[in-house]
Amino acid sequence: MTVYSQSQAKTLAETELNERIMLCKKCRLWQCATQAVPGEGPINAKVILVGQNPGAEEDKMGKPFLGRAGKFLNKILAENGIERKQLFVTNIVKHISPNNRKPLPDEIKACMPYLTAQVQIIKPKIVILMGAIAWQTPRVAGIEYIETVHPSAAMRFTKMRDRFEKDFASFAKRQTEI
Ligand code: URA
Repeated sequence: MTVYSQSQAKTLAETELNERIMLCKKCRLWQCATQAVPGEGPINAKVILVGQNPGAEEDKMGKPFLGRAGKFLNKILAENGIERKQLFVTNIVKHISPNNRKPLPDEIKACMPYLTAQVQIIKPKIVILMGAIAWQTPRVAGIEYIETVHPSAAMRFTKMRDRFEKDFASFAKRQTEI
């Protein structure tokens, strides 16, 4: 009998979950998408970063936070000495939406089990929720949730940018504890 290490078991679970996400037709969004964007990062990540849903660039490439918001996020992470490749980066909704509109409540509800499963598999210490849509993520006991604004809003409004920068600066200070 094959005995899997914890990491191997997590990878198997993630592979199966990603296959389901890629084939998902639980709401209407798959119809306007090139592909689903499950998320990326280490299976043993201590931190999960959650955004809203993929945009055009992400839809084309199949990876989260690649466009303007992603570049801004990368800049803030780098300025605070946070390595993006150590984080698992995903979205509450895994498909792009028409004209980049906000995902609707039934779309968020249909997609939520995927994020819940990602949290169950990865078992992070911290989940950072970026933007009001991501704040809807159900909380799991034993995990710390940090609410900050969405990077797109932070790029546009000074007050939001201040909050985004402050939230990542204080998260960075605690990185050694986790
Ligand atoms: N790209 C993503 O992957 N998510 C967002 O919320 C915005 C841009």
